[in-house]
Amino acid sequence: MGALRVGVIGGGQLARMMTPPAINLAIDIKVLAEAEGSSAALATTMVGDYTQVEVVREFAKSVDVITFDHEHVPLAVLEALEAEGVSVQPPSKALAFAQNKLAMRKRLGALGLPMPDWAEIQDAETLDAFIEAHGGVAILKTPIGGYDGKGVRVVRSASDASDWLGNLAQYGGSLLAEEKVDFVRELAQLSARRPSGQFEPWPLVQTIQENGVCSVVLAPAPAVDQATLDRTAEIAKSVAEGLGVTGVLAVEMFEARDGRILINELAMRPHNSGHFSIEGSVTSQFEQHLRAVLDLPLGSAAPRAAHAVMVNLLGVDGQNDFVQAYSGALAAHPEAKVHTYGKSARAGRKMGHVTVVADSAEHALAEAQGASAVLLRG
Ligand code: ADP
Repeated sequence: MGALRVGVIGGGQLARMMTPPAINLAIDIKVLAEAEGSSAALATTMVGDYTQVEVVREFAKSVDVITFDHEHVPLAVLEALEAEGVSVQPPSKALAFAQNKLAMRKRLGALGLPMPDWAEIQDAETLDAFIEAHGGVAILKTPIGGYDGKGVRVVRSASDASDWLGNLAQYGGSLLAEEKVDFVRELAQLSARRPSGQFEPWPLVQTIQENGVCSVVLAPAPAVDQATLDRTAEIAKSVAEGLGVTGVLAVEMFEARDGRILINELAMRPHNSGHFSIEGSVTSQFEQHLRAVLDLPLGSAAPRAAHAVMVNLLGVDGQNDFVQAYSGALAAHPEAKVHTYGKSARAGRKMGHVTVVADSAEHALAEAQGASAVLLRG
């Protein structure tokens, strides 16, 4: 067999973290980065604009399969390459649902999957009627271009969104209104699927957000009954199969106070909710993604320890590189596995993460938070 060559579009931390398992499996990983000096600079073979079909076509010539660090490559670019016979995983027809929250809601609705009540909004009257019908409050989202809570707003009247309603063309012509779910917590179901069909879910995790950004992940999610575990794995399988997703899929969900499990968001790539799997699982999400997009047999997603806790290192303005705090953090927290993404600090930016695996969830959380505090103090 010749070399296995995977091309990753995007030079962020996800591409960076695909590199160690690629080395282990002798996969030739190549990255198309947006700029020099990205997180994935070690694997970068080309720097260019992924919105230009000629750039991506040139990159694709050097690999057997194209996959992604992010979901922003224009569908038209991917469709052109697919028409020329390039293997794109996940394919453009699946990515379409990750790029547009309204298209995603429509498709999940057609599949009968559980979601918050929602409506497509093109004018103030429809939005006011939706708010009225949902107790005077709704969540309003821009269907395209949002991430980490940007493009998500709580609205009590259409006048809270006159800027968005006045610029609908910029958001694809419509907005997405959703019931404001009274949730007790947020959960994520990570899984992987091969083009030929094999599907492998990881155990359900709980995600904790701060200011709209993931800050802590508890694996497995505490106090979940078997019926819920079966249900969330089944939901992920239905999404992966129903939307034709290949590679890693993260299904973000709400556990509502009334017990409903509702799908919030989808990510069709390795995801922050799965970073724990590097130390916590037999097969990490990064290795599994590479195996899946190459249509190789998937590895076991079983846990390697009773608990894994991941804490994100979120940047602080004006902070210097926290690498200089390694001595203190590593000495005080020898169980902590520190991952640094090589990015410059900006407030709230994901700069790295810390994972601790342990028999006790409390211990893992305390150690991961302890190490994170020392690193961020600098
Ligand atoms: P993004 O794509 O920017 O991550 P999300 O759609 O995941 O945006 O929403 C960001 C956060 O906003 C969620 O993690 C959740 O805390 C809150 N949120 C989103 N939709 C709802 C909803 N329907 N009800 C209640 N809270 C919501």
